[in-house]
Amino acid sequence: MSIALPEDQCLDPAIRPGPDEPDVEVTAREPLSRRVFDCCPTCGDPATTEEHVPPRRLGGVKMTRTCEPYNGRLGSLVEPDLIDWLEDAITRPYLRSPGLQGRRSLGRVLFRATPDGIPVFLVDSSHPDVEVMLQSGSLELEAGRADRNLYSIAAGRTNLRLVVVAAGLEPLDRRDAPSANAPSGWASFAE
Ligand SMILES: [Zn+2]
Repeated sequence: MSIALPEDQCLDPAIRPGPDEPDVEVTAREPLSRRVFDCCPTCGDPATTEEHVPPRRLGGVKMTRTCEPYNGRLGSLVEPDLIDWLEDAITRPYLRSPGLQGRRSLGRVLFRATPDGIPVFLVDSSHPDVEVMLQSGSLELEAGRADRNLYSIAAGRTNLRLVVVAAGLEPLDRRDAPSANAPSGWASFAE
């Protein structure tokens, strides 16, 4: 991703792959079609919510249905860090300034760099105090980077969903050992 400035300069991602990072070749095999199971393909509970694969913010479409805890609760816990990681955003940013007491949430902040390598923070906040803080000339930015554990879970969750939808794997009955009609691949996959 790059952002063009009026002077035809571009801001690029501030963190780039190192020179020793290997190239990865990706081959598109076939488009996947939506596949809905009788119950949540992860845990076997009633599948009550539409699940976007990958997450909707990343352009995902409704590919299957899953239970609410898996989709809503787990999704809202891990997906923001995946999106921050992919978009090179600052996670949970707050701003302090000598003129104002306390800190203000900055909403979304993208981390970019000029072609000369000068770091640039693109701030998207409608809070009126933030504008005052940015004009004050003295700022303290409190922020973190995306949590690797969380975005790894989010990425793994998307991969798991794609495999299940592609293969049409049925969930195991939670009360029993692998059922007779469960594909053998699913048994090992679910462990
Ligand atoms: Zn579930």
